[in-house]
Amino acid sequence: MEEKHYDLIILGSGCAGLTAAIYAARAQLRTLILENDVPGGQAAYAWNVENYPGILQIDGAQLMAKMLAQAEKSGAEIKCTGVQEANLISPQKQIITSQGIYTAPAVILATGAAPRKAGFQGEAEYTGKGVSYCGVCDGAFFKGKEVFVIGGGNSAASEAMYLTRFTDCVTMLVRKGQLRCEKSAEDALRRDSRIRVMLNTQLQAVSGNGCIEELMLRDSITGEITPYYPKGGSAGVFVYVGREPNTRLFDGQLTLDAQGYIPTDENMAASLPGVFAAGDIRPKLLRQIVTAAADGAVAAAAAARYLEEKKSFGA
Ligand code: NDP
Repeated sequence: MEEKHYDLIILGSGCAGLTAAIYAARAQLRTLILENDVPGGQAAYAWNVENYPGILQIDGAQLMAKMLAQAEKSGAEIKCTGVQEANLISPQKQIITSQGIYTAPAVILATGAAPRKAGFQGEAEYTGKGVSYCGVCDGAFFKGKEVFVIGGGNSAASEAMYLTRFTDCVTMLVRKGQLRCEKSAEDALRRDSRIRVMLNTQLQAVSGNGCIEELMLRDSITGEITPYYPKGGSAGVFVYVGREPNTRLFDGQLTLDAQGYIPTDENMAASLPGVFAAGDIRPKLLRQIVTAAADGAVAAAAAARYLEEKKSFGA
């Protein structure tokens, strides 16, 4: 197992982590990015990004590939290896991975958030057999079939529109009496005859023989449950009901809020010295590529200042 020391370790290579790496490496910090999965984070699955300033339109995977290249060109090192343990309390932070043990006096936690489960019966059993959390990854499996999108936020709206590439039979199941997405997205949904929005409707259960052949729909107002049999015999269910922070590794060491997010001050400092958090892992109003990138830049600058002060005081 290799053992290596850095100035700064960044956990996570989504837009917050990669932006932090660009800024930290350019500030001459020996910077390591550790990634459990493939680089790029959730934004790499966005099929269309139109609100990152300066770029009119880009595929999420392409944007994240550019950020990764920029981080590496700036001098940051990246290792894709399973992080098993993060010891954040002592002044030298220690990160244990399947490949080696890495230490640094400062860390930036940018592990983001993962899709939240909707909680209907059969959700776990039918994941990969009709239930999906990624339209970009799985949409093509449902060519010409009926698909359901659970949720009424911006993600659900965007995925419903994306899925019309494969089918003209998309139904959004929204548990309340209104959508939560932006007005422009709502207008686009209503204009598209391939998309049907069912308000006050919850998915109660899915079942079938190896694929989803029956959906039980619950009226949120009356509580009435009605079975639905998709046209063509089977359907896809895409769940977009928000995200949950990936903070399990840090629980018990850092202050987390009631939802498990890491509160920070305005300079992204978390509750332990030398520990910073950036991106979707923080409580915030707007989880976007641009806000994650901004967090990453601030966290890197704050980490650089922290290291400088530590040096001046001979700590
Ligand atoms: P949101 O939290 O905005 O929306 C979640 C949706 O899922 C809500 O309609 C919510 O309903 C519903 N929901 C939650 N739990 C359940 C459940 N168990 N069963 C059924 N429905 C449920 O999450 P998003 O992932 O859509 O967005 C996260 C953030 O990312 C937001 O800030 C959003 O603006 C941003 N975003 C921006 C985009 C863009 O501008 N290009 C694209 C995608 C996301 P209810 O209202 O009843 O709680």
